[in-house]
Amino acid sequence: MKNVITIDGPSGSGKGTISKLLAGKLGYNYLDTGALYRAVAWKVREEKTDPDNEEALKRIMEDIKITINGDRIFVDRTDVSADIRTAEIGELSSRVSAKPVVRAGLFSLQREMGLKGNVVIEGRDTGTAIFPEAENKFYLDASLEERARRRYRELTLLDPEASISQTIEDIRNRDARDSSRESSPLKKADDMIYIDSTHLRIDEVVAKILDHLK
Ligand code: C5P
Repeated sequence: MKNVITIDGPSGSGKGTISKLLAGKLGYNYLDTGALYRAVAWKVREEKTDPDNEEALKRIMEDIKITINGDRIFVDRTDVSADIRTAEIGELSSRVSAKPVVRAGLFSLQREMGLKGNVVIEGRDTGTAIFPEAENKFYLDASLEERARRRYRELTLLDPEASISQTIEDIRNRDARDSSRESSPLKKADDMIYIDSTHLRIDEVVAKILDHLK
């Protein structure tokens, strides 16, 4: 598994930015697995489904067709790339991602995409559950306050009403939910390289990862 690099970590740890840059430098593809959970959440909202109704989620997972084309993501034929970035979908994706039926439904999609090789794959369980056999696995972290500041900067581009205190609260809740769920919780495995990016610039984080590549 020399050509699969996994990067896990909590919300706002910089996984997305770092993974995209790293993939660009290496000439690899980039897979944002959070976007897949957000796409499912988008469909759950679109169909006004109760996110706790396992049967309804199962039906959604059987029907949903998620496709990625460059940096665009489609649910069935709708381009949802912008719509999935709101705080509301972030929150809903964290709820549906705790459901085993949703995780199982997205598992093979992620494996298939990764097995094409030369890929940086980023998320919450990419190095623990999706590609545990990858040779280069990283865990990216930062303090809660710094992660909330980063997420707030992104959110205000879409929603001028976003508030920093609400963002801190949302991130705290998502951390708790993502780390405590039974099904593939967010976790640093022993064979992952830990990087704390609280006081690092983006290029410094990328350089550290490049240094560590086997
Ligand atoms: O990374 P992002 O904020 O886009 O992810 C949205 C949500 O999807 C996360 O809060 C998390 O609950 C879930 N997720 C997951 N496993 C992944 C990626 C994301 O459970 N590999």
